Amino acid sequence: MHDERLESTAAGALERTDAIAEYDVAVVGGGPAGATAAWDLARRGTKVLLLERGFRIKPCGGAIPPRAVDQFEIPASQIVARIKSARMIAPSDERVDMPVGDTYVAMVDRDRFDPFLRERARDAGATLVIGAFRELEYQPDGRVKLTYLDKQGEGGMNSVLAKAVIGADGATSRVGKQAVPGADKLKCVLAYHEIVEAPEEGSAADYLPTRCDVWYQGRLSPDFYAWVFPHGKHASIGSGSARKDYSAPAAVAALRRDVGLENAPTVRREGAPIPMKPLKRWDDGRAVLLAGDACGVVAPASGEGIYYALLGGRLAADAVTEFLVTRDPAALRLARKRFMKLHGRVFFVLGLLQRFWYGSDKRREKFVAMCRDPDVQYLTWQSYTQKELVKERPKAQVRIFFKDLAQLLGLARA
Ligand SMILES: Cc1cc2nc3c(=O)[nH]c(=O)nc-3n(C[C@H](O)[C@H](O)[C@H](O)COP(=O)(O)OP(=O)(O)OC[C@H]3O[C@@H](n4cnc5c(N)ncnc54)[C@H](O)[C@@H]3O)c2cc1C
Repeated sequence: MHDERLESTAAGALERTDAIAEYDVAVVGGGPAGATAAWDLARRGTKVLLLERGFRIKPCGGAIPPRAVDQFEIPASQIVARIKSARMIAPSDERVDMPVGDTYVAMVDRDRFDPFLRERARDAGATLVIGAFRELEYQPDGRVKLTYLDKQGEGGMNSVLAKAVIGADGATSRVGKQAVPGADKLKCVLAYHEIVEAPEEGSAADYLPTRCDVWYQGRLSPDFYAWVFPHGKHASIGSGSARKDYSAPAAVAALRRDVGLENAPTVRREGAPIPMKPLKRWDDGRAVLLAGDACGVVAPASGEGIYYALLGGRLAADAVTEFLVTRDPAALRLARKRFMKLHGRVFFVLGLLQRFWYGSDKRREKFVAMCRDPDVQYLTWQSYTQKELVKERPKAQVRIFFKDLAQLLGLARA
């Protein structure tokens, strides 16, 4: 990596090397995963750098479960809407409403949410630097040298030394590609959405500020789903697919027409990849650990990633803390082990669900019809809002399991 300041003069290089900042941990990426890792580490008194390129607002539907609000102390001021039901729309246009019950789905705006998380980490003692990570180099003493393009102060290339690095730089993680075997093979859905001004109350648009609409129609997405998510003054209208021959902007234009929001003023148009499956390895066996989208922790079928990124950041902070104490790189593996123990089963089931039910319009039709079942609704909302496998209603779980299995094996007609 070219570093003008290091190369300028021998004396300059010495001065620069002497002045290089040293940290216990450098966290790359200040989204939900990285900012939470830095927050937790700083609160423990760890000397931590949080490096964020500050390039753009993260494209995101912004739906988070109440469990995220409680567990990660998200203040009410960050919640721009509370959703009380989801409407599932089948290829035939059949609609099934799923009321959330006595809880809610919280909507956050990432243009305010991410800066809030970063500021919180800084207030706890993390050093927040606006800069774009470029390269890491392992040092003979076991530390890692990180080089980044500084976007504040004098600018130019800069470097720091850290005993451990957390790569929380999203689905296209540069840290992952440079340090963790297999990270360059992360499979993704490409998701795209348009942020529009929400319609006035009483408008003709098919829109409710407290209802998320989820469209399961092959014409809008051949292998995922399309959505309309309310965000207070705004709404996110989006779609996604892993297929290369698919045009998300065309699908979103069609959806906007269908719901009567084709003329709503557009605030932003943006897209980004959503990982489809957690990586098999999250660390380099030396000093680098990935968290959040960087290691693929997004729930299949739903594309929900914010809660898992917040949790992944926390688990990464715990594992790195153990690594700093023991100096045993095996401690880094604990993050994945603990995450998969908590959510591995749900991710596996959701992966099967996506592969089977999102495979054709015929199956989507049956899937939406299944959502009428009060037990399906109850179990879906319980597991989404609480992020725990529901222990109640075991008979309902067994019944749904066998109904699902029958569909998978082609034994059932309905
Ligand atoms: C269109 C769309 C809609 C979605 N809707 C939802 C939803 O409704 N609910 C939900 O739960 N999830 C949703 N997701 C998924 C969710 O956005 C992600 O799973 C979540 O943001 C992951 O958090 P993260 O911190 O791991 O990564 P990110 O949020 O991607 O954060 C990574 C951070 O790293 C920074 N960075 C990247 N490269 C560098 C670098 N070289 N140097 C320094 N910093 C760098 C970025 O600027 C960014 O701030 C959606 C995703 C998309 C694309």
